[in-house]
Amino acid sequence: MDFSTIGNSDLITQVNRRLVMKAVRQLQPTYRAEVSRKTKLNPATVTGIVNELLRLRLLKEVAGEKKSPGPTGGRPPMMLELNNTARKILAIDLEPNIIRVALVGLNLEIVHYREKLINRRSQPETVIKQIIQVVEEIISRGKQRRIDGIGLSLPGMIDRDEGILISSTNMPLWKNVPIRDLLAQKLGQAPQVERSVHLAALHQDWSDNSEELNTKLVLSLRTGIGMSLISRGELYMGAGGFEGEIGHTVIDLNGPLCECGNRGCLETFVSTDAVIERVKLAMKKNKCKAVSEALGDGEILRPELVYSLARDGDKDCAEIVREIGRYVGLAAANLVNLLAPDKLILCGSIDTADELILEAIGQQVRQRSLPQIRDHIKIQLASALDKSPLLGAAVLVIRDIFEMPRLAQSLSFSAVSSTVSTS
Ligand SMILES: [Zn+2]
Repeated sequence: MDFSTIGNSDLITQVNRRLVMKAVRQLQPTYRAEVSRKTKLNPATVTGIVNELLRLRLLKEVAGEKKSPGPTGGRPPMMLELNNTARKILAIDLEPNIIRVALVGLNLEIVHYREKLINRRSQPETVIKQIIQVVEEIISRGKQRRIDGIGLSLPGMIDRDEGILISSTNMPLWKNVPIRDLLAQKLGQAPQVERSVHLAALHQDWSDNSEELNTKLVLSLRTGIGMSLISRGELYMGAGGFEGEIGHTVIDLNGPLCECGNRGCLETFVSTDAVIERVKLAMKKNKCKAVSEALGDGEILRPELVYSLARDGDKDCAEIVREIGRYVGLAAANLVNLLAPDKLILCGSIDTADELILEAIGQQVRQRSLPQIRDHIKIQLASALDKSPLLGAAVLVIRDIFEMPRLAQSLSFSAVSSTVSTS
């Protein structure tokens, strides 16, 4: 779109500011001249906008590199970076088995972080109390209670307009819970909500500074398994917010009963619970001895331990990880053939298995996808892995500072702070 034809100078200013913010985010630390080159705005315009953004404390100056002296050969010019402290975003990630909460800055740097294990069969009211408790711990660690926005990552199916968690197969007692409003009553402001797998995709796209407008398929292995497709910066959304339920595609007609009511869903083979069941079964057969040795007194078995032992060379754990990889790879290969993405990105609790699980998935994708597609696809682990949806929740809140204004949105750059009250 040619914004110069709109004839609204305020809009043009807002568009140019976002171009500069985005360029600094992608290039940082960077010089004004580089921002000018990337945005194609003339140097004087960039200088004016940068001065305003410095005044608003959205950007900050840092010492330039010694190898890049200024035009007169003297002191190198100052470089620009995003000012992480310019925003304080409360990011909340609700997983069936764990709550993660962080205070995140404009640069997506985590200032404070807390997590708490929860029981996925708890009543929603209990879990909401636990969320508030973790938020209070986080807030009390910060010097001030100013919060510029809240992003909430949810599992399962949601009504994103109303902020309702409709259902989550892994949290059986959650039915049509208006979680956005319930949290807003306690926190003093309403969170922006999105499904965790979409937030992982949003975060992965945000962290990708390459110029290619590529299509990313994100597979998330958490308590459940989900998928998200992000193409040219836009998330694919199905009807009613029910897209991406790859975990409930049937891969074995006579397979185990799934919590959704079907038999043989992918999830029954690869979810957190499925991994734990597999390990318990192996332990009964006197296998996976390393798991019982590594488990502390009263410690809950989590897949991370199995992945970590697998990586350290434990054969039984490695076999379990490979088997999970084969199932995920099978589903991934089908998706790759269907969607032909440029990248397949894996996130979730798989970080400690990295090479092992990537190899198993890669093998299936190479074996089963069409040659034209498999030749160019890149398969990789997500950055930030299990914290990707949490950071995505922060992206959900801050992205308007960097993206083109949509006409329905406020164009104001002014601070949107308010105080979080958890009393
Ligand atoms: Zn199912």
